[in-house]
Amino acid sequence: MQKLVIASNNSGKLKEIRQLFVPLDIEVIPQSSLGITEIEEPYGTFVENALAKARHASRAAGLPALADDSGICVHILDGAPGVFSARYAGAPKSDERNNQKLIGILKNQSDRHAYYYCIIVLVRHADDPQPIIVDSSWHGEIILESRGEGGFGYDPYFFLPELSKTAAELSMEQKNRISHRGKALKKLSEFLITNKL
Ligand code: IMP
Repeated sequence: MQKLVIASNNSGKLKEIRQLFVPLDIEVIPQSSLGITEIEEPYGTFVENALAKARHASRAAGLPALADDSGICVHILDGAPGVFSARYAGAPKSDERNNQKLIGILKNQSDRHAYYYCIIVLVRHADDPQPIIVDSSWHGEIILESRGEGGFGYDPYFFLPELSKTAAELSMEQKNRISHRGKALKKLSEFLITNKL
């Protein structure tokens, strides 16, 4: 069985990723269990941040590594908060303050179209010249009153017109089937079924 280090300590993400790799006979190891610390995400693009995280984990572990980067992008804000989604309202990270900041900025806007974006990068070794890269988006709109208790981050304000629900009103299974991260993971799984790691 091959081993793959995951450059994330988010337990929700780890659970989703672990499930994906079971049928592929790949053992998933969180970087924290190897004593590998998280690095800064200093770049202005999702792909650069994900690649830096994957290379760091791979170099430290001497194993293939996977990292993702994600965020919410608002159309009329030229894609902000984007790569800054986690710390949109400054440190320390707070979903509540991030959401209040976003609602404050959008409250007088009629166009509140937004999308979640997720990119996943897998490197076979730290200097892999050809990383495997998959991505996906999930489109919706920001509403001004929160709805639902599920999910995390911006989910209670991320409304899906075709379902008449926010992301926070979906079950975890429903969300994983249609979300940016769920769809990117599915693409990765399809790639790995036809191409060896
Ligand atoms: P990261 O990919 O762990 O760096 O997360 C970036 C940030 O984007 C999170 O802290 C959330 O604020 C936001 N985000 C990414 N994916 C989701 C999601 O599925 N629901 C809600 N917020 C998300």
